[in-house]
Amino acid sequence: MQEIKTASLHLSLLPGFARFIYKDHLNEFVQTLLQFSRELDLPILKYFAHLSEPELVDQSLKNNGEFLRSIVGFTNAEDLDNALTEWKSMQLEFVKKNQIQLDELLLISYVRKRAFCTMIRYFTNEPGEILELVAELDRLFMFINRSTTNMYVQFLKSKIEEDIYFREKLSDTSPGFYYIYDLKHNRQVQQTSKLFTYLGYGTEEFENDTSFFAGRLHPDDHLAAVPYLEKVKSSGDGEVHFFEYRLKSKTGEYKWMRNYESVYKRDHGGDAVELIGIAFDISRERAIRDELIFREEDLLEAQELSNMGSYIWHLGDGSSFKTPQTNKIFGLTDDDSLEAFVKRIHPADKEMVVSAVKNALEGTGEFEVEYRCNVDGTEKIIWGKGKVKFENDKPVSVKGTVMDVTDKHHMVQKLQRSENLYKQAQSLNKLGNWTWEIKTDKLEWSDELYRIFGLEPQSEKLNFERFVSFIHPEDREERIKRLEEQMTHTKLMDYHFQILAADGQEKVLYGQSRVLADDDGVPYKMIGTCQDVTQQKELERSLYQKTIQLERSNANLEDFAFISSHDLKEPLRKISVYGDKLRQMGKALTVDDKKTLDKMIDAARRMQQMVDELLSLSRITSDHSFQVCSLNKVLNNVLQSMEELSAETGAKIEFDKLPDAYINEVQFHQLFGNLLSNAIKFRKKNAAPVIKISHRRLTKDETITLKLDHQKKYLRIDFTDNGIGINEGASEKIFTIFQRLHGAQFEGTGIGLAICKKIVEHHNGLIFVTSAGNEGSTFSVIIPDIVV
Ligand code: ADP
Repeated sequence: MQEIKTASLHLSLLPGFARFIYKDHLNEFVQTLLQFSRELDLPILKYFAHLSEPELVDQSLKNNGEFLRSIVGFTNAEDLDNALTEWKSMQLEFVKKNQIQLDELLLISYVRKRAFCTMIRYFTNEPGEILELVAELDRLFMFINRSTTNMYVQFLKSKIEEDIYFREKLSDTSPGFYYIYDLKHNRQVQQTSKLFTYLGYGTEEFENDTSFFAGRLHPDDHLAAVPYLEKVKSSGDGEVHFFEYRLKSKTGEYKWMRNYESVYKRDHGGDAVELIGIAFDISRERAIRDELIFREEDLLEAQELSNMGSYIWHLGDGSSFKTPQTNKIFGLTDDDSLEAFVKRIHPADKEMVVSAVKNALEGTGEFEVEYRCNVDGTEKIIWGKGKVKFENDKPVSVKGTVMDVTDKHHMVQKLQRSENLYKQAQSLNKLGNWTWEIKTDKLEWSDELYRIFGLEPQSEKLNFERFVSFIHPEDREERIKRLEEQMTHTKLMDYHFQILAADGQEKVLYGQSRVLADDDGVPYKMIGTCQDVTQQKELERSLYQKTIQLERSNANLEDFAFISSHDLKEPLRKISVYGDKLRQMGKALTVDDKKTLDKMIDAARRMQQMVDELLSLSRITSDHSFQVCSLNKVLNNVLQSMEELSAETGAKIEFDKLPDAYINEVQFHQLFGNLLSNAIKFRKKNAAPVIKISHRRLTKDETITLKLDHQKKYLRIDFTDNGIGINEGASEKIFTIFQRLHGAQFEGTGIGLAICKKIVEHHNGLIFVTSAGNEGSTFSVIIPDIVV
């Protein structure tokens, strides 16, 4: 530059020549110039193709005029360079705008020089001057070419600097990391230290290591990178691809990265050789994405657990998105449309659902409906809630949730039913319950309790004072005292008290209650029940009175029986004594007289027996001398006393070893004696008596069937004979006093079994007979067992 500026151009003829052309031959000069340009097909012409011929000429006149004027009067290179500044800047603009290359600029210069040469002949014929002009033109164009080249280089330089600056700025301010990748050698040509610094590495680690990047790639991502690179390689210009992978940081932790890449350079065959790319750290984005996926999975799981689904319905195109649980609830698939859903709604509920949604779309913005659905033949109850999204006052979408509440519904119904049952049970049992918040003195009663107190259910608010006002004056003081005592503990208490109900009735209530206390033992609540037991109490009272009366009359009866039988004995004894005396009178009596007298004495004897038996019957209940005795011993004693009778009749008696029992020994002796003597007495004519005495413990079921106390154990002793048996229908009767079935054939008083019954009942037991007609009978005695 410096050299050109200072070099002298020695332009002696040229300024004059330039003025000559400018003044007289400018048009011709321009035409020549254009002609040469066209002959050489100068590339610059294409930039003026849009101009018409006069416009092109005009433009050239202006441009060349400027150029010629710059030369006129300047001999010094420096001055000329300055004078050409404006002209050069015009050229520079052109370079910038049309990206003209240097060789094109030099061609223009060449054409212009030729045009100058052709104009020389108009200026001079002097060979010396011609030679001088050509030499000066050479120098001038050499200078211009240099200056143009200079300008061009200068321009390129500043452009490159600008580019570098811009790239640096871009790299500094962008969150990404730029690089150029060599596909042939599979390495980064220009690797951004920024990326590796970001990953925590020191410059010395990666500076000269072209495979540093590959060495930090996650092994799994190496594999995926191969087909990806193939895809990028075969892509067209301007196509951008991206690849996600993991890169190891200095701390050993992998960072998720995403690279956007495009082909940067191709070889002569058009194959991609370099890629340009930008890498971003997407670890956070991945974490958020993973979190979102996790949340979505969570949400879907929660939806499944709660039988709840959600959906979004776009009103514009009618499309919708449903979660899997929504599909499950309605038995739909992802592809099913809204119509498929509407079809499932119970016909009776369809209108309600449609109008609720319509109202929401028309302004309310929200809906909540419960409706029935038919899903694959099963009726479900669905609870749905939705919200409409409006844009510019127009509904655009509906977001909502649906929940299968069939089970809940059934549960609520069950609860309602059981609450009704509970209420019914309370009213049937005349039982109410209550809670009393001690601090706030708030007393709550169930409906039935209001009724018990003669009030309409929930007709008034209650407190302790109001409750006390109902307590009968006779019991009031006592009840309050007991309540105060109850405040000192948390045991369940029960009690009776009387009230004067609101309707004036006097009632007896049975109460049970408990105090609830906090951790410090301070009572905060009391809960309890009250049952109206007025009727039971009255029943109890009358039962009690009747029992007393009965006991009294029983005692009277026993006294009477005892006294009368006792008193009867004396005259009877006298009849027997006098009868015997009469008999001893011998001949004085005829045979008939003797027969009559025998009958009388026999009647007196029987009467005596009856009186004895009546006497023993009347004594049974007053004898309380019970003790544990061996039943076996009692039986053996009885058998011994009957040995004679057994022998006479040829009776065969088999028996178990009987256990011990808590009994009145004398009475059991009588019981066994009566039963055994009956078994022998009521034998069949032609068969010797066979008697079996067995025993066993009753089962629980038997205890229940016989209406005995099922919490106790019982012993059963059976006396089975092969006698004449007892007719069906007479088995109860025979235990009543004086009832005899076979009066004529068999001797007896008809008191024996009545005594047996009384003895067994006196032992809290049972006696009954079973008989299969003339097959014989079994008399069963059941008494409490001592084995617990
Ligand atoms: P009595 O033996 O004095 O007749 P009981 O009170 O002992 O009176 O018996 C009442 C009646 O029951 C008897 O008259 C008899 O008809 C019937 N009876 C009692 N034991 C038997 C028996 N083992 N087999 C058949 N009938 C019986």
